[in-house]
Amino acid sequence: MLADPLNVKRPEWLDQEDVNIFYEAVKGFIEKECLPHGDRWEKAGVVDREVWTKAGEAGLLCPAAPEEYGGAGGDWRHDYVFHMAVSELGVDGWGASLHNSIVAPYIWHYGSEEQKKRLLPKMISGEYVGAIAMSEPAAGSDLQGIKTTAKKDGNGYRINGAKTYDALLGPEEGQGFFQLMEQLPQERLQIGVQAVGMMKRALDETIRYVKERHAFGKPILAFQNTQFKLAELKTKATIAEVFCQHCSDLLLKGELDAATASMAKYWVSDTQCELIDECVQLHGGYGFMNEYPVARMWRDARVQRIYGGTNEIMKLLISRTL
Ligand SMILES: Cc1cc2nc3c(=O)[nH]c(=O)nc-3n(C[C@H](O)[C@H](O)[C@H](O)COP(=O)(O)OP(=O)(O)OC[C@H]3O[C@@H](n4cnc5c(N)ncnc54)[C@H](O)[C@@H]3O)c2cc1C
Repeated sequence: MLADPLNVKRPEWLDQEDVNIFYEAVKGFIEKECLPHGDRWEKAGVVDREVWTKAGEAGLLCPAAPEEYGGAGGDWRHDYVFHMAVSELGVDGWGASLHNSIVAPYIWHYGSEEQKKRLLPKMISGEYVGAIAMSEPAAGSDLQGIKTTAKKDGNGYRINGAKTYDALLGPEEGQGFFQLMEQLPQERLQIGVQAVGMMKRALDETIRYVKERHAFGKPILAFQNTQFKLAELKTKATIAEVFCQHCSDLLLKGELDAATASMAKYWVSDTQCELIDECVQLHGGYGFMNEYPVARMWRDARVQRIYGGTNEIMKLLISRTL
């Protein structure tokens, strides 16, 4: 179990009983159903099929889905603690964060009534697993639509490229760009929240390591460089968490704009990579070995600066507001 190395006080809107219960349920589920299989899933490159249906049975999938389609009728606060738990405990490869709060919301926001009734209950139960693909035929801004599909096989769910165009979301072609513009701020904030969760895990691992590892007859935490480095990292991670909470507050009020969400995505994911790189350094040679969680975090953190729109594109969006 992770001992939160930051202890940022949760704001009142987040520190609610139902949200806290959900957070504990997600953490309990991950510890029981995911962590024991983590190494095997990593080697196989796919998670067990059952984890999806078990998560569905436990009421953990699509927590913000509307009640009329079988959802719990929650909101971003439940998504927030879900992403935080997944990243804090280290099951980043599961894909449930994408399923819950990127793919499913496209369906309840833009799908036809028939699509909502057909797809959402199956996504909430874990029978269907969501993926998202953006089609851009002429490389430019003329995104043609957003289509979701997942194909079941013997081991689990895999994206089938040939089928990504077999169902149009909503009534007309050519709406993908507008749908994206509305949904991307939340998706980008999600990347920031995931980054905070992983930073906490990296700090927790590293603080424990520098207390145990000895060099020149003392724990490496006794060196002032280690103390100062960790003090800097803790400060940056704290600022990142507070900023993500601020952006979440805006999102819940419907006020999170593209530029502010871009700040969360770019700065927090850049900070995540910087922090984990320093944590690898503090692990010395062990930081380069895959058996050590910090080495895997270093590898997994890197993509956060690329997907969801690269961090250079985030700066472009921010600069347009100058
Ligand atoms: C693991 C992973 C998962 C992904 N998941 C999904 C998914 O689920 N759904 C989905 O649709 N996509 C997904 N993507 C795609 C992802 O969103 C894109 O890779 C990302 O937006 C960058 O686009 P690109 O790869 O075309 O890079 P390019 O646009 O070719 O960029 C290459 C480089 O050029 C820079 N660059 C490009 N344009 C500019 C500019 N105007 N100014 C300055 N620099 C610029 C970029 O910053 C980057 O450094 C995923 C990618 C990865 C790696």
